[in-house]
Amino acid sequence: MSVFRRKKERDHPPAEWKIKKECLDLIIECAKSSYPNEFGGLLRVDAISKKTITEVVILPGTISGDSHAIFRLHMLPIDFSIVGTVHSHPTPNARPSKADLALFNKYGKIHIIAASPFNQFSWKTYDYAGYEIDIAII
Ligand SMILES: [Zn+2]
Repeated sequence: MSVFRRKKERDHPPAEWKIKKECLDLIIECAKSSYPNEFGGLLRVDAISKKTITEVVILPGTISGDSHAIFRLHMLPIDFSIVGTVHSHPTPNARPSKADLALFNKYGKIHIIAASPFNQFSWKTYDYAGYEIDIAII
């Protein structure tokens, strides 16, 4: 029976995530101004629906390099209004790196990668397992 229960949980439809347009604009601006370095931030949701990203908390300092391992887990707060991470890639490749996937798996439920050239079409959203998920801009 436990096998069936587990399968049912995994087949559950994905969460309906939303992000405020001003948060997305801020992400794109930070990605642009940090280029050619990466920037990193945390995604905060509203207290009511807990599925709408209403704030981007920019992590201080940028780290150059192309490893994308820009988050250190010990830096990340235990804060239940934080649902995930955002960072930029200085290349047009918005796919998560191995280091990104390791982070996604350990921290948060939703992760945004903004890639070059940093516009409305050059970012993607992933779940904890690195699968691309849909998000509505509100
Ligand atoms: Zn990355």
